[in-house]
Amino acid sequence: KKFVYDFNEGSKELKPLLGGKGANLAEMTKIGLPVPSGFTVTTEACNEYYKKESVLWDELKEEIFQHLGLLEKESGKKFGDIKNPLLVSVRSGAVISMPGMMDTILNLGLNDESVVGLAKITNNERFAYDSYRRFIQMFGDVVLQISKYKFDHMLEKIKQQRQVEQDTDLTAEDLKNLVIEYKKVIEKETRQVFPQDVKEQLLMAIEAVFKSWNNPRAKVYRRINDIPDHLGTAVNIQMMVFGNMGETSGTGVAFTRNPSNGEKKLFGEFLMNAQGEDVVAGIRTPQEIQALNSRMPDAYNQFVELTDLLERHYKDMQDIEFTIEGGKLFILQTRNGKRTTHAAINIAVDMVEEGLISKKEAIMRVEPQQLDQLLHPTFNEEELTKAEVITKGLPASSGASYGKIYFTPEDVVKINSTGERAILVRHETSPEDIEGMVASVGILTARGGMTSHAAVVARGMGKCCVAGAGEVRINEANKTFTVGNRVFKEGDYISLNGNTGEVYSGKVGTQNPQLTGNFQTFMGWADQYRRLKVRTNADTPRDTRQALEFGAEGIGLCRTEHMFFDDTRIPVVRQMIISRTIEQRKKALDKLLPMQRQDFKEIFEAMGEKPVTVRLLDPPLHEFLPHEEEDIRSLAKSMEVSYQQIKEVVNDLKEFNPMLGHRGCRLAVTYPEIYQMQVQAIIEAAVELKKEKAIEIIPEIMVPLIGEVKELQYIKDIILKTIEEIIEKSGVEIKYLIGTMIEVPRAAITADEIAKEAEFFSFGTNDLTQMTYGFSRDDAGVFIKEYLEKNILEKDPFQRIDRNGVGKLMEIAVELGKKIRPDIKLGICGEHGGEPNSVEFCHLLNLDYVSCSPFRVPIAKLAAAQAAI
Ligand code: PEP
Ligand code: MG
Repeated sequence: KKFVYDFNEGSKELKPLLGGKGANLAEMTKIGLPVPSGFTVTTEACNEYYKKESVLWDELKEEIFQHLGLLEKESGKKFGDIKNPLLVSVRSGAVISMPGMMDTILNLGLNDESVVGLAKITNNERFAYDSYRRFIQMFGDVVLQISKYKFDHMLEKIKQQRQVEQDTDLTAEDLKNLVIEYKKVIEKETRQVFPQDVKEQLLMAIEAVFKSWNNPRAKVYRRINDIPDHLGTAVNIQMMVFGNMGETSGTGVAFTRNPSNGEKKLFGEFLMNAQGEDVVAGIRTPQEIQALNSRMPDAYNQFVELTDLLERHYKDMQDIEFTIEGGKLFILQTRNGKRTTHAAINIAVDMVEEGLISKKEAIMRVEPQQLDQLLHPTFNEEELTKAEVITKGLPASSGASYGKIYFTPEDVVKINSTGERAILVRHETSPEDIEGMVASVGILTARGGMTSHAAVVARGMGKCCVAGAGEVRINEANKTFTVGNRVFKEGDYISLNGNTGEVYSGKVGTQNPQLTGNFQTFMGWADQYRRLKVRTNADTPRDTRQALEFGAEGIGLCRTEHMFFDDTRIPVVRQMIISRTIEQRKKALDKLLPMQRQDFKEIFEAMGEKPVTVRLLDPPLHEFLPHEEEDIRSLAKSMEVSYQQIKEVVNDLKEFNPMLGHRGCRLAVTYPEIYQMQVQAIIEAAVELKKEKAIEIIPEIMVPLIGEVKELQYIKDIILKTIEEIIEKSGVEIKYLIGTMIEVPRAAITADEIAKEAEFFSFGTNDLTQMTYGFSRDDAGVFIKEYLEKNILEKDPFQRIDRNGVGKLMEIAVELGKKIRPDIKLGICGEHGGEPNSVEFCHLLNLDYVSCSPFRVPIAKLAAAQAAI
């Protein structure tokens, strides 16, 4: 089996094998771009490595050295040579890019001999020793796992001794000394000398990259981004070119379009006399790419041409790394650039208009989940005019946010768990900060540019980020930062504008965004292709209006119990529950009736003639009762009954397992008058709207938690009688549907019987998952976390439909239901209705609609369109 590919043997189609970076290096080589030669060790080799209990096997080593030999021949240099040494970079390259998560080593192949050769052949001793010390440091960090600061400390010490500011001010002699010091650090930390055998260096580095696939930050990143663990990483070994050879050398990163807002303009940064990691790590703040034009116009113009070519070739916005060595341009990497959702939509729409991609391709370019970013707040304009800007950094990732400042990722995680909004403030972020970044509502860094780690990662998360705010002086020990003479302490509020880079003192309120322009165009295209309708779960007129703004096409679930919790209603609800006789209960229900009717009227009216599914009361009654002694006393007083009486009711209603207890349709079997009242409110609301406004409503009345068709028959009888009475009395004809939720596994497997009575099914996948797995939906969070960490579950089944189990039951129910009633209406209203992967499943099952919370309506729409393409 072949485990190593030369760059000129591959192409972009081989991405699963060569990883993203390797495949694109091969592709660029194929189309004739100036790419330094090299080869790729495949992802299969990485997986094989783990299978072989983490040792490199002999055949693989041989294959690697064979390709190394080819590289020597092509370059005319020799690995480890004292005259003309070949140096390589060793870089990870996963199939799905994970920026900054895995490791890179530059300048490999240097030792005490070859460094002399490098100095001679480049006629630049300083450069040679600078490369050597960088290599030892990276090798020490990545391969030997020695903390970076141990090296940084030595560097600082020499700079102090020599009284210089910049690394570039150190002389060749200084750097030689630094190499000696670095080697001592390695000997002290590992009790072994720094390896002088360059082949050994190479194998150790390749192994380290394989291992970095499973470092903690890569694992966290994969979990957050849903990247499977079994993919493995490829390793790219590429001939070094040097951006640190002097003032006609440099290195940089550029995006073919603006990754924050999508503007069609080359966007990037470079540093002269530097190596790649200097730009990405944000150690020196780089210059805008356009400034390269005045320094090196030829290289600049060639670069602009190539970026154009690459974008047209890949038909997507590219993120390109380049190096200039002695005036000659090399492309080191290209990949589809990470971008904010705002940019993603603008770029997709622009590219359709430019004729570069089709509408269908445009729709596939935006991750549905990403839309979430757009539906989130911007600053409240009014508050903004009064707010005080304290400083400005780079607009690294768009959005607006306010929060309390914290200086370590650990503190942010801690504060976030208490429900507070925390902003992470750092000199610069590093991949170890990832969990703090996830837990923050925004990120502020003092150093680093638009392509620094913080910026790239924040954009991926859709998190607001201001980077490189140079006036911010952070004192980590005191947990403060200062701007000029103003001091901000841990826990103080600041606000960040990720679109402009502005930082405000205090809290600037935020508001929901306007969804117009390209967003509308884009969603319009999604609407053309999707088959699934998208409804919303809404219980109040306010939610209903919000959902309509986001484009809901109906209500798939109105949980009527949420109307019961209102402050003015809860006493009446309680009165109903503690009633001892039917008469007492009816009296309370009579009071609730007009309130419910008014709610329904408002919701129906807001929805126009769009379908509305109203679910009859579902939760166990005890949820409405007070449990603290004090509350029971005050209820007793207000209802003019004894404390004892209420206490007894509360005790009577207590259940060992309320989720499987007296709830759902079971309540109506015991207290039919509750559903009677609700049905009366629904139908009367429809009658009134028809009379008053000529709005024709077809209410869909939904009975929850059916498991046995006779339950439904019993309740349906009561519902029908109630409806007929009202219709007759009012003389107004109202059409309606009566259906059920499929939440109990038994309902799914007897769906043919149930379909005889039900005109529609709505899958309540929250309860269906609970009862299929036997996982309590209120308690499972704790252990599901462990299941995920231990790979027993790939995904929380309460978030994404478990297709093999719960999904199977749904499939059965659809098939049995359609057999009896071919036109049965089918939908889903569990939380899964807004989760893209589950939406795709619903599309495949041929459901009529999904229903989800208002904020997820656009997400579900896009997911539905992608499923249909
Ligand atoms: C469900 O069970 O999926 C459902 C929508 O009902 P609820 O979440 O209200 O139990
Ligand atoms: Mg339910």
